[in-house]
Amino acid sequence: MATTPGTLQNFIDGELRSSEGDSEPILNPATGEELARAPQSTAEDVDRAVLAARRAFDGWSNTTPAQRAQALLAMADLIEEHGEEIARLEALNAGKPIEAVSNDELPVMADNLRFFAGAARCLEGRAAGEYMGGYTSFTRREAVGVIGQVTPWNYPLMMAIWKFAPAIAAGNTVVLKPAETTPMTTVRLAELAAEILPKGVLNVVMGPGQPTGEALINHPDVDMLALTGSVDTGKHFARTAADTLKRVHLELGGKAPVIVFDDVSLQSALETIAGTGYYNAGQDCTAATRVLASSKVYDNVVSGLAEQAKGLLIGDTLAPDTTLGPVNSQRQRERVSGFLQRRPDHAEIVTGGNEPDRPGFYLEPTVVAGLRQDDEMIQREIFGPVITVQPFTDEEQAIQWANATRYGLASSVWTRDVGRALRVSKALRFGCVWINDHIPLVSEMPHGGFKESGYGKDLSVYSLEDYTVVKHVMASLE
Ligand code: NAD
Repeated sequence: MATTPGTLQNFIDGELRSSEGDSEPILNPATGEELARAPQSTAEDVDRAVLAARRAFDGWSNTTPAQRAQALLAMADLIEEHGEEIARLEALNAGKPIEAVSNDELPVMADNLRFFAGAARCLEGRAAGEYMGGYTSFTRREAVGVIGQVTPWNYPLMMAIWKFAPAIAAGNTVVLKPAETTPMTTVRLAELAAEILPKGVLNVVMGPGQPTGEALINHPDVDMLALTGSVDTGKHFARTAADTLKRVHLELGGKAPVIVFDDVSLQSALETIAGTGYYNAGQDCTAATRVLASSKVYDNVVSGLAEQAKGLLIGDTLAPDTTLGPVNSQRQRERVSGFLQRRPDHAEIVTGGNEPDRPGFYLEPTVVAGLRQDDEMIQREIFGPVITVQPFTDEEQAIQWANATRYGLASSVWTRDVGRALRVSKALRFGCVWINDHIPLVSEMPHGGFKESGYGKDLSVYSLEDYTVVKHVMASLE
């Protein structure tokens, strides 16, 4: 039984509900100490949540866009009203510097919700007309149904909002499973929104992939699956969905190339690249961690990034001056350290590479030079505070290496030459290309991958459309 004090409860059908499943400790990554316990929700818990979402679907999908917009606007207000509490909880649970949560993440989350509130009211079918004599046709965009959504631990609440906001804006109902290590802010927001959303519209069920996630993705009453997570989990979702032909929406891993030509102002470029490579301890699917530098500036790029890394301040996540927090778990730290330990002889750790002598799951900000294109550290997502640098000889080689991994989420090109910036941005096989910057996102523009980074878009009106089905209505004029 999981109802000891300090055990979190699921949010199902408009209220907090205990699970019958075992519970697991939730740790503060900055100290390794237990913050709470979370249920390993059972198939029965998932079933209860899916049935609640199914019951709520008729009512919610028949609300007007204005009503759904009102609810999302009220949720954005909630984020602001409870900003201090949410920021503290996210900092403690995910191991993020609290200033980054308060100043960067919370305003983005509120803006995302407000964008989808507005977008809900602009959703439309594309055509209406007489395409055959004697008939009028039009298209409708309708909600898909019950959406099973699964989120990762790197931006727990922001990723939850990127999932549920477009889904419920379009009239769907949701059962969302947060990552097992970071459920606290998601379930808290659902609880806070109990007065805003009708019961059953947004349900949060905590637990690991097995058994909780499996129960959700196999549930016959779930119409669509949406995941932000790793490539392997994404493939598993797609295979599972094939049995019942559920729709699938996948935001998966990334390995962003950062192509630096020799005509840029290096100092400011490297400040941004290091800032966005080490942001969130490098646990960002778009992190600027795979730098390709023109051989003319390679040495300066390597030493400049090492300088930037040394300027970061590792510290407690609640201290306002901390700029680098821990990675999310001991498992993740071992994973990242494993890449460094397995490095080939030709690789050089220019700075960092060690676990600082302090509690929690910290890793020094690290720069690795001398790697080759087919090395593991270039080909696989590290998802930690590790930036690699490779020298390239010309534009063609830069493009070829940038594209030569299985991922295709985000990329950047740094040059003052407009023609080259446009040529390279066209040639890059990534869902996003930044020119002379890296990482800024806006609610209005799509975020999502090419290749094994998945399919379907988060943010923007494309994401809203992903959570709809198109219907053709054709009427005889007789
Ligand atoms: P993960 O794939 O291990 O887990 C993601 C989620 O899937 C977790 O909630 C986990 O419990 C769940 N899950 C795992 N197995 C499952 C199963 N069999 N059935 C149902 N659910 C299951 O990924 P992670 O380690 O938590 O997150 C890091 C990954 O997420 C990285 O690869 C990162 O790039 C990616 N990510 C992508 C984006 C994006 O927008 N593309 C954003 C953030 C993170």
